[in-house]
Amino acid sequence: AQERYASIRGKPAVSLCGKRINLLMNAGLLADLPSLPSSGAEGVGLFRTELQFLIRNQMPRRTELVEVYKRVMEAAGDKPVVFRTLDIGSDKVLPYMKPTDEPNPALGWRAIRVGLDKPGVMRMQLQALLRAADGRPLSVMFPFVAQYEEFSAARAEVLKTIAIERKLGHTVPDKVTIGTMLETPSLAYASKKFFEDVEFISIGGNDLKQFFFAADRENERVRRRYDTLNVSFLSFLENIVQRCSESGTPLSFCGEDAGRPIEAVCLAAIGLHTLSMRPASIGPVKSLIMRTDLDALYDVICDARERGEQSVRASVMDYLRWNG
Ligand code: PEP
Ligand code: MG
Repeated sequence: AQERYASIRGKPAVSLCGKRINLLMNAGLLADLPSLPSSGAEGVGLFRTELQFLIRNQMPRRTELVEVYKRVMEAAGDKPVVFRTLDIGSDKVLPYMKPTDEPNPALGWRAIRVGLDKPGVMRMQLQALLRAADGRPLSVMFPFVAQYEEFSAARAEVLKTIAIERKLGHTVPDKVTIGTMLETPSLAYASKKFFEDVEFISIGGNDLKQFFFAADRENERVRRRYDTLNVSFLSFLENIVQRCSESGTPLSFCGEDAGRPIEAVCLAAIGLHTLSMRPASIGPVKSLIMRTDLDALYDVICDARERGEQSVRASVMDYLRWNG
């Protein structure tokens, strides 16, 4: 399937109306790295570090993590990589950690909540990232931040770890960029100060959609009930785009929808110009972007919304059938 898109692999994703869309890939295993050159991705927009913890039957040692992260950075070369700190709990349970018996794990003690309450593992992981970077620029992103204060506390952990590493005599990067995922609706309404403070935001559409519609992403009975192209969700995403543009905060989208061509062009049309997806999706998404006038598509979305359509999908499909 990759062969089909080989002719556009080295080309930038520029829409018919001239908008340049950044296409990045999601990764988490060393086995994903060869996809970086073969997919034409411009970097890794989401490196899910928990996968290294999930594939082992005991807690990885710091030295092992340093080696893994180093290989990722070396494979990426000049391309950017965003490392997301451990996103465990809920659907991602580590076999060697004491299980927590929670009534609603998706709403429970997970991700950054664990990282802040029991910072030992996150600190070890941050040290490994800093050592692997060995002076190279580093981007760190936190999962599942629900309020500004969690971001500030997590960032303070990074700054503290940098200071410790420096004291221990390790080379630390000149620049560590610190951002967050936006996966809970609450964060979209955080204070202006948060948007000014955070260095970048990536929308985790899988979780954000689950919490926006109160529909479990793991539950077959409801997971497809609400369309991503539902006008409520699109308007909500547009609101996030607006807030980030007011504060000049770089914004991307890294949920599975970024890799679905129809959804991806709609996300691009409402102003999400950096999309991170599974590597195999880069070709198909790029191909559709290059054939689409995103400004005209945006008008189609707005018209459908004004007509009171529940989802803009039918109108968008109709438009793309004739124009895409
Ligand atoms: C998301 O929630 O959209 C996301 C990218 O994170 P994960 O799928 O790993 O929860
Ligand atoms: Mg998530």
